[in-house]
Amino acid sequence: MALNMIVCVKQIPDPEAPPATFKIDSNTNKVVPPQGIEPVISPFDAQAVEAALRLKDVHGGKVTVISMGPASAKDAVKHALAMGGDEGVLLEDEAFGDSDSYVTAYILAQAIKKIGEYDIIFCGRQAADWDAGQVGLGIAEILGIPSVTVAQKVEMMDGKVEVERVVENGYEVVEAGLPVLVTITNELGEPRYPTLKGIMAAARKQLTLWQANDLGMGPDQMGLKGNLTQLRRLFVPAREGTCEVIEGENLAEAAVKLALRLRETKVI
Ligand SMILES: Cc1cc2nc3c(=O)[nH]c(=O)nc-3n(C[C@H](O)[C@H](O)[C@H](O)COP(=O)(O)OP(=O)(O)OC[C@H]3O[C@@H](n4cnc5c(N)ncnc54)[C@H](O)[C@@H]3O)c2cc1C
Repeated sequence: MALNMIVCVKQIPDPEAPPATFKIDSNTNKVVPPQGIEPVISPFDAQAVEAALRLKDVHGGKVTVISMGPASAKDAVKHALAMGGDEGVLLEDEAFGDSDSYVTAYILAQAIKKIGEYDIIFCGRQAADWDAGQVGLGIAEILGIPSVTVAQKVEMMDGKVEVERVVENGYEVVEAGLPVLVTITNELGEPRYPTLKGIMAAARKQLTLWQANDLGMGPDQMGLKGNLTQLRRLFVPAREGTCEVIEGENLAEAAVKLALRLRETKVI
């Protein structure tokens, strides 16, 4: 059975960037994009693309990649197309800015309804910047379809999905009918690298661009006006560290002093 699949991908600041480049503007409560470091597709989302492509390899079908974000988010979509995705949709509108997880899920759900037919929607288990892990479940709720979270393996079995879900100390196997939304975890394994041929094919592909009015959304439904949550404060926690050097005539004496000090401070 050929499958119609949609993968939601988010572009995030590169998690491999040196911590010193991570800055927050406390006046606007926003992350300051690090200079000279390109944002990337969220790693869990690259794995969600991989999950869809593995099913496509076996059953055939179509993988549509969708992202909501600024113009640069097209690179995340193109990355997924270079991996083997078929079509890309970019939801770009200034009015989408400052949206919380609920509004993000709502916007994505409207776009998915507009795409029309779908069997499986894939998301990452969480976006690797804010780590909320809410958007996927929100999309499923808004569309009124079942969802299965933290999947490490997804297969088709008699017209249903069979999903290995990671739980503490192992995994459980869950079955669900179509259409379904599945969130993918890193235990799925490495996503495939885009090949040169894939990169060139993706570069030629035209993305579908939708704005708020294409999704029938009014100003009160988006951004700060539509949010159900309010971001009160965004900050880098201050970490204080002190160092105490334990000395002794020899190593044995220093070790005894260290043990006594650890007991005194209730570390042991
Ligand atoms: C009041 C408020 C204001 C905010 N303002 C901003 C802001 O100005 N800029 C900003 O970057 N963030 C902002 N955020 C954070 C922003 O809301 C989150 O990035 C967004 O809600 C998605 O949540 P998440 O990234 O934690 O996604 P999660 O819920 O962790 O994402 C799970 C999965 O959903 C999918 N997904 C999530 N987001 C997208 C997307 N945009 N496109 C496609 N798929 C997606 C991916 O598959 C992802 O793996 C704000 C949050 C709040 C509460």
